[in-house]
Amino acid sequence: MPVSVGAPRQLLRRLREVMAERESAQARLDKVVVLIASNMVAEVCSLYLQRRDGSFELFATEGLNPESVHNTHLKSGEGLVGLIAEQAEPMQFPDAQRHPAFSYRPETGEEIYHSFVGVPILRGGHTIGVLTVQNRTKRQYSDEEIEALQTTAMVLAETIASGGLVSEEVSAEQRRELAMRFPGLPISEGVALGHVVLHEPRIVVTRLIAEDIELERRRLAQAIEDLTGSIDSMMERGDMARAGEHREVLEAFRMFAHDHGWRRRLDEALLTGLTAEAAVQRVRNDTRARMLRMPDPHARDRLHDIDDLSNRLLRLLSGGVATAATGSLPQDAIVIARTMGPAELLDYDRQRLRGLVLEEGGAASHVAIVARALGIAALTQVKGVLEAVEPGDAAIVDAEGGELHVRPTQEVVSAYADKVRFRARRQAQYAALRTVPSVTLDGERVALHINAGLLFDLPHLDQSGAVGIGLFRTELQFMISATFPRLEQQTRLYKAILDAAGDRPVVFRSLDVGGDKVLPYFRAAKEENPAIGWRAIRMALDRPALFRTQIRALLRAAAGRELRIMLPMIADVSELKAARALVDREVTILKRHGRPEPKSLMVGAMIEVPALLWQLDRVLPLADFASVGSNDLMQFLFAADRGNMRVSERFDPLNPAGLKALKLIVEAAKKHEVPLTLCGEMAGKPLEAMTLIGLGFRSISMAPASVGPVKAMILSLDAGNLGRRIEELLECTDTSLREDLKRFAAEQGVQI
Ligand code: PEP
Ligand code: MG
Repeated sequence: MPVSVGAPRQLLRRLREVMAERESAQARLDKVVVLIASNMVAEVCSLYLQRRDGSFELFATEGLNPESVHNTHLKSGEGLVGLIAEQAEPMQFPDAQRHPAFSYRPETGEEIYHSFVGVPILRGGHTIGVLTVQNRTKRQYSDEEIEALQTTAMVLAETIASGGLVSEEVSAEQRRELAMRFPGLPISEGVALGHVVLHEPRIVVTRLIAEDIELERRRLAQAIEDLTGSIDSMMERGDMARAGEHREVLEAFRMFAHDHGWRRRLDEALLTGLTAEAAVQRVRNDTRARMLRMPDPHARDRLHDIDDLSNRLLRLLSGGVATAATGSLPQDAIVIARTMGPAELLDYDRQRLRGLVLEEGGAASHVAIVARALGIAALTQVKGVLEAVEPGDAAIVDAEGGELHVRPTQEVVSAYADKVRFRARRQAQYAALRTVPSVTLDGERVALHINAGLLFDLPHLDQSGAVGIGLFRTELQFMISATFPRLEQQTRLYKAILDAAGDRPVVFRSLDVGGDKVLPYFRAAKEENPAIGWRAIRMALDRPALFRTQIRALLRAAAGRELRIMLPMIADVSELKAARALVDREVTILKRHGRPEPKSLMVGAMIEVPALLWQLDRVLPLADFASVGSNDLMQFLFAADRGNMRVSERFDPLNPAGLKALKLIVEAAKKHEVPLTLCGEMAGKPLEAMTLIGLGFRSISMAPASVGPVKAMILSLDAGNLGRRIEELLECTDTSLREDLKRFAAEQGVQI
């Protein structure tokens, strides 16, 4: 017998009343099943919920033997209930007992019922329970009835999760409050104990049942219109940098947002009497459940898109909530996000930030660089974490061992507390080395510099005991601004940096945007391969106004002081000449205006494009200094995108090809007597830094936190011995020297 369209709404209204009653959780559940049974004109309605061991326990029933409540359990996959749980979709059986999966439980007394329909109770696409209805007669349940049952299941899921319908213990189980461990890739060293903050706060849907369906329809239509409008205009503006979004994500959004199937499902959910928010949640759950069970890995990728889209809609419907950075943070925040741009990380209160966990992004991405600058423990590639955590969960980021612990047990917490104490002791030892000269056992002095990019990096110069700033990434100021920083703003920052550095040298690198460094306000054409596209010096030479403003700011800031300017991505000798000519022109203008000049001016080149390896004899005589950008040099040398995890870990810079390239540069710099540094991430890792010294580098620049460990390595190293060992190894090895170098360090007692 088909139910009228009004029936589910009536059911929902009654459900809301029951849930608002001040009774025990069990009493309310008992009423819920009676309500559903009578609404569906069925003899039986039962509710099963998943327990900690994975089995489904009968929690309430109308029609089956009351004694079996809390006594009947079915494993996942066992019986029709188990089957529905496993498939996560509604199923009906006109003659249930004849179905091969039927599992007879004598205690329930269900042998007299023939027809059976069940729907999963879904949360985040996972089955947390099953709701069933049975009739004596053999009958077919209509689509409308099943739809109404699904809507009811959704309302139950949300109410259970918010703790309103079952005991604390069960709702904790349903929230999956078990200790979990996830592997991840460390991108910024450290160990952090704290509490989870979701970068994009989840919207809790509390108003589930509609008072006025027409109103809900209008609200949803408006929200969808606003959303598609904002996505379309974001794409038209080429505004891909906002919130770390990429074009593909936007395109996926657009696809979903214009997808008729998706909109139809939303409409259907609304018709059953849900609010706009609840309809979005309901369709998200069903879509997730379907996608989670698809064998195709791309389907899983699309989970993110449906989540993002739903979150955006929910945010619009609830009047908009910004990222967590603007809300109140716990003292020990561990921020968890799918991806994040560098500027977004900087929005957080530094004092309260302990750790960062990302589902996606490479180790050389710019948010990783900012995390290192902030000195917070950070992991990336932590798959599935967003689904498994709740805000406020205790968490431990172990960026040494490469794992994240969520809701850790007491044993794990105390083990990590020990680890943190041990690290603090080690940090104290490094701090004690602060004023110790960095000289190897055989008397080779190695200059240790830090990489920086923002004002808050400056205290690190004193704390680390570094001799200067070997790389100041000027683009960070541009990346975190809402508009192009003006001449005055730039001048102010550069001046503050020079003031803080005092007589320690600072190497300012001219703007290196493009690649993964996108400026939110700068419209650039979409490029197939941005890392080898229009970036850095290429942009500077094609758009000299930008470059000249920056040079002008640097010249003004350095009045009466030394100024070092470094040019990124030089691939051809003429580029260095042209950029130098632009710098000289700015100096002439400065003089003409009678403004004070820098005491000295040095212009250097970054060696990070492999083409330069065969032009060293031409390019080095034109440079006042040179610095190897090993991040880019290696990515181009091995043709492996530094931001793409699939390939970036595949090639080791300690491979003979990488090391021979570096050796070539060291020898050429020596020949032309050009001061040489290396400022890529490898300089900050003790084993890699050791190798660089073995190859002849005597100056390197790294994240501030690496200075201590690298200095400890240097103090225990005999550079001469290592140089000879590397010479031998390079002659006879055709794969990474990493293991051989580790062995060398162990034999010689080098602290790595
Ligand atoms: C490099 O490429 O090694 C480098 C230091 O520059 P960036 O990481 O900013 O590209
Ligand atoms: Mg580079």
